[in-house]
Formats: sequence, structure tokens, C-alpha cells
Amino acid sequence: MLDFTNMRSIDMDVAKRTAWVQAGATLGELYYKISRETDTLYFPAGVCPTMGVGGYMGGGGYGKLLRKYGTAADNVLDARFMDVDGNILDRKSMGQDLFWAILGGGSSSFGIVLAWKLSLVPVPKKVTVFILNKTLEQGATEIFHKYHYVARNIDRNLHIRTQVFVEYIGNTTKKNIRIMFEGIYQGTTDALLPLLYRKYPELGVT
Ligand SMILES: Cc1cc2nc3c(=O)[nH]c(=O)nc-3n(C[C@H](O)[C@H](O)[C@H](O)COP(=O)(O)OP(=O)(O)OC[C@H]3O[C@@H](n4cnc5c(N)ncnc54)[C@H](O)[C@@H]3O)c2cc1C
Repeated sequence: MLDFTNMRSIDMDVAKRTAWVQAGATLGELYYKISRETDTLYFPAGVCPTMGVGGYMGGGGYGKLLRKYGTAADNVLDARFMDVDGNILDRKSMGQDLFWAILGGGSSSFGIVLAWKLSLVPVPKKVTVFILNKTLEQGATEIFHKYHYVARNIDRNLHIRTQVFVEYIGNTTKKNIRIMFEGIYQGTTDALLPLLYRKYPELGVT
């Protein structure tokens, strides 16, 4: 059992758009650190701030900038990695196969990641977010059906996540289905609204 509590430093180089992150840091700590140093860079990782950078990256890691920048693993430049004999390796000395494997194959299958070197991606200072809920009566089925054709083809600056909920209606025993659409657009409403009116008017974003 390894305790990474004291291994959570984050060293950023804004000019080079990189950061070395020790494996004990959480995604929330990484986001916070980036936001303290710059408002035009970001790391394309997951939503939940409590996830550990160690395990998250080892699973590949998807997040809301996936469509534009790929997975978190796609944006890892290097690693400090300890093998079973205690050797500390970097990307070059571990070789491309092992580097590929620890970014998606579960790092602990191969050894221990001490730190990751990340490539930070450019983002605009202002982004637009929206959350819309649609029940069956509000046309959720048709809107969700269209989602499958729109979400993967629309401008890559827009990511729309959906979640489906089954809920009781008021205090009755009758159930309804609600679909939540969560969007994040890397830009302002001036560009987003015309885009949605054109490509996905059924969603009804105003
Ligand atoms: C609330 C929540 C939201 C989530 N959201 C997303 C999401 O948006 N996108 C996404 O891709 N995933 C998401 N996940 C999944 C998450 O990426 C995995 O659960 C991940 O394994 C968490 O890593 P951890 O370090 O926090 O957990 P841990 O349980 O500590 O580690 C997970 C695995 O990685 C290994 N590991 C951890 N650190 C190291 C290290 N330094 N070296 C080698 N192996 C190590 C551990 O041994 C273990 O096998 C979410 C999980 C939760 C609980």
C-alpha cells in the first residue's frame, strides 16, 4: 500500500504550456493551480475534482474537452515511473510500448507512476455553459435521438454530455424519464446560439 499524500506538487511552465504533476495530486488541485497562473490554458481531464491524477491518467481519462483535444492520456508528454526493480524511468528510458501501456492500461499493472508531465491546451478566457432538462412530455425521446447525430459531428468547440434519470412524478408512484443535456462551448453565446439554432434547434437553448 503506497501513500501519495505528500507527493502532490505541481510545477507549471506557462510559457512552454507544460506542467509536472506528482501522482498524489487530485484533478481539482491541478485545475486550481492552472487557474492561479493563467486563464488561457487548461488540462483536458475529467469533471470530478476529487479524482487522483495517478489513477485517472492510468485509465486514459476522458473529460469535457475530449472532442477538441482527445483524452487526458493524449496530452501526457512524459512520466517519472518506478519499475519493479526500483529503477526510475522516463519516457525515453522506459520505451514507447510501456509509455503507451501506462496511459490507459492501468499504470499499477506495470509499476508506479511518480509524476506526469502534461501538455496544457489553449482555451478562451470566456466559455459558455448550459444545462437543459427534457422529460418525455417535452420531447426527450426525439431530442435524444437527434443528439446521436449532432453531438459527434458539431463544431469541436462544443461538447454536450447527457444523463438519463428515472424519477417519480411528484408524490405519486408514477415514473417519468428526464434527460439532462450539459453543454460547454469554448466561446461566447454570439457564436454558440446561431450554431445551435442551425444544427440542433430541437434542444431549445436560448
Ligand atoms: C466521482 C467520480 C467521477 C469520475 N469521473 C471521471 C471522468 O470524468 N472521466 C474519467 O476518465 N474517469 C472518471 N472517473 C473514473 C476515475 O478516472 C477512476 O476511478 C480512476 O481510477 C481514479 O483514480 P484515483 O487515483 O483517484 O483512484 P485510486 O483508486 O487511488 O487508483 C485507481 C487505480 O490506479 C492505480 N494507481 C493510482 N495511482 C497510481 C500511481 N501513482 N501509479 C500507478 N498506479 C496508480 C491504483 O493502484 C488503482 O489500481 C470518475 C470516478 C469517480 C469516483
